[in-house]
Amino acid sequence: NETNVNHGSQAGNLYINGSWQLGSGPVLSSVCPVSQESVWSGNSATVDDVNGAITAARQAFASWRKQSVEARKGIVRKFAELLGENKEHIARCIGAETGKPLWESRTEVAAMIGKIEISINAYEERTGTQESDVAAGHTVLRHRPHGVVAVFGPYNFPGHLPNGHIVPALIAGNTIVFKPSELAPMVAEETVKLWHQAGLPSGVLNLVQGAKDTGIALAAHDQIDGLFFTGSSGTGHILHKQFGGRPDKILALEMGGNNPLIVDNPTDVEAAVHHTIMSAFVSAGQRCTCARRLLVPVGEKGDAFIERLADVASRLKVDKFDAEDQPFMGALISLDAAKGLMAAQHSLLERGATAILSMQQINQDAALLTPGILDVTNVMDLPDEEHFGPLLKVIRYDSFEQAIELANKTSFGLSAGLISDDRALYEQFIDEIRAGIVNWNKPITGASSAAPFGGIGASGNHRPSAYYAADYCAFPMASVEDEQ
Ligand code: ADP
Repeated sequence: NETNVNHGSQAGNLYINGSWQLGSGPVLSSVCPVSQESVWSGNSATVDDVNGAITAARQAFASWRKQSVEARKGIVRKFAELLGENKEHIARCIGAETGKPLWESRTEVAAMIGKIEISINAYEERTGTQESDVAAGHTVLRHRPHGVVAVFGPYNFPGHLPNGHIVPALIAGNTIVFKPSELAPMVAEETVKLWHQAGLPSGVLNLVQGAKDTGIALAAHDQIDGLFFTGSSGTGHILHKQFGGRPDKILALEMGGNNPLIVDNPTDVEAAVHHTIMSAFVSAGQRCTCARRLLVPVGEKGDAFIERLADVASRLKVDKFDAEDQPFMGALISLDAAKGLMAAQHSLLERGATAILSMQQINQDAALLTPGILDVTNVMDLPDEEHFGPLLKVIRYDSFEQAIELANKTSFGLSAGLISDDRALYEQFIDEIRAGIVNWNKPITGASSAAPFGGIGASGNHRPSAYYAADYCAFPMASVEDEQ
């Protein structure tokens, strides 16, 4: 298996202070969600291992923060070059570990590379020295790194999303302890190897592998200055509580959504179907920006749209990541995740939903699900949950005002979209919708890499995209100076 990581001469699978070390915790193994074969295994980090990584990061901070921004940028650019040279290898690792089709894994690596220059520009534009003369005197604004930050990665974009924190944090002069998702350790390891090759000094980026216990040890540590998290809402809320009463630490959370898409009788039904399919089913529904609730007006036009949508969705190809004839959708991350989605569908049906297109598991030994579309208009007290997979809930509405009201009926607020011929309706929508990312006649998963990315409410508290990440990776320091 060419994607299987061979630790070879490497002494272990934790990267601490510039060398590979054996973890002392339980064995962690990563399996392909289709074949169930192990693609990676190693040992997780214990509390002691985590302590070692934080100590290394603290020591490295003293000199890393003093390196010129130019020197730091040079290493980051070298990393981008190495990513380019190893594009296919990293894409295959992402595919083997997460089930994401190769066409899409390749776009993930391209996005990682794209974020490098965006992060560099953002750092310069958002944190450059600014001078002004005010009554108090000549004021100079500079930026300083926080210190040691922990980066927690998710499994759905195991390269791109942690990279969106790591790159800006490094440019700003922070040092890092990276704790990837326990469901995607291989992608993390292969990426960290490239940082090593790029010449990152020892201790500047440390990798600790492991599940929840490793995460708890890292998050609770009093020697971290911040934590940048991408993951589930449940864990994000636990971390937020844990960080209450720790005002000396910065916490950036990105936690998903229960995103609404309104399709209000557009003339171009085929385009609307395409945007809806991309919104709900790309990445097998495992993007935090995916549409979870589809709002469609009652009436014949709405009926015809839903019928066409179900027809196209029923023919979407679902297969393993490296199938020669590439599928639109790959597997869910694990058999457990597939089981959870099937249970969610079952529970909604029991509560009065009707199946427009029933989601199905292709076979019990693989995490491959076909798309599902349920009409939940008559379900009372619809749970405000993120179903992280290819399950779309349809709600019918009587008026556009009601559609917006329904769209806002969630504690989340990540992405939202409107498909309509009427720009005035979109103006009303952007005025009233509570979401961090809004789209008009586009898939709602298509966030631009350079735009602020992130949500409000239970979706998060920062904009963890490369551009705005510059804002929380460094703190502004004002100095009022004598003018000589
Ligand atoms: P996802 O479902 O996107 O992987 P999770 O919230 O399950 O999201 O996990 C995100 C990251 O948080 C993972 O690295 C995981 O190991 C870690 N994690 C899970 N529970 C906790 C916790 N209680 N404290 C700290 N980290 C945790």
